[in-house]
Amino acid sequence: ETGDVVLSLKGVSAGYGRITALHGIDLEVRRGEIVTLLGANGAGKTTTLKTISGLVRAQAGSITFEGEELVGRKASAIARMGVVHVPEGRHVLRGLSVRENLELGGFTVHDSKLRGERLEEVFGLFPILQQRQHQDGSLLSGGEQQMLAIGRAMMHGPRVLLLDEPSMGLAPKLVLETMRIVKQLNERGATILLVEQNARLALKLAKYGYVLETGNIRMEGEASDLAKDTAIVRAYLGG
Ligand code: ATP
Repeated sequence: ETGDVVLSLKGVSAGYGRITALHGIDLEVRRGEIVTLLGANGAGKTTTLKTISGLVRAQAGSITFEGEELVGRKASAIARMGVVHVPEGRHVLRGLSVRENLELGGFTVHDSKLRGERLEEVFGLFPILQQRQHQDGSLLSGGEQQMLAIGRAMMHGPRVLLLDEPSMGLAPKLVLETMRIVKQLNERGATILLVEQNARLALKLAKYGYVLETGNIRMEGEASDLAKDTAIVRAYLGG
């Protein structure tokens, strides 16, 4: 049901070797919502997404998706459950066509009919990818490569999408376009945890937000309230 907590982090700590980047964070994402994670460079936003998707191991705490524990599972198993990460940077595979890049994204889907339907769905959302499907993926523009990265994630049939700075490095017009796509994905049923350097846009899209500071949640609330908060405005909205 809409509004149920689908993804829940409780006391999650994680890091890299001796560096602890997350110090016991609590966070919830409800079904059908866009939740945004704000914070300065190095606050731990990317680490949060990587820990959820199993790319970084949690040192403590619990992460549940639909009530199932994710900590200790492999990244591929987590993706198969429907928690799909679109990492920062576009990671388009050179030497593979646009279509092959998408098909590779669908490797966890064993039903070829379903894979075909998902490909059609991606082409429906991003007609440019259909037009360029036989072209080498690395020849796409930055914005198109971002669409490809999102399209590849969609091939998994995500229940929850973890989006890491989808508008990174894009021209202003494409930043807006990317945000429109995020909204569209959400309207089509994906629950989204969004990290986005453009905090103003992120708070416009999101229902709820969290502010990370050196690996701790410093503030959380309805996105519309956060957008009015003077401390947030000063720190992240250039007010
Ligand atoms: P940004 O907005 O700059 O991407 P972020 O909020 O996503 O920042 P993280 O990338 O999660 O921040 O980094 C959190 C902390 O972990 C930082 O202190 C960073 O230096 C450290 N860190 C990140 N990746 C590694 C790594 N592979 N090895 C060691 N330390 C890392």
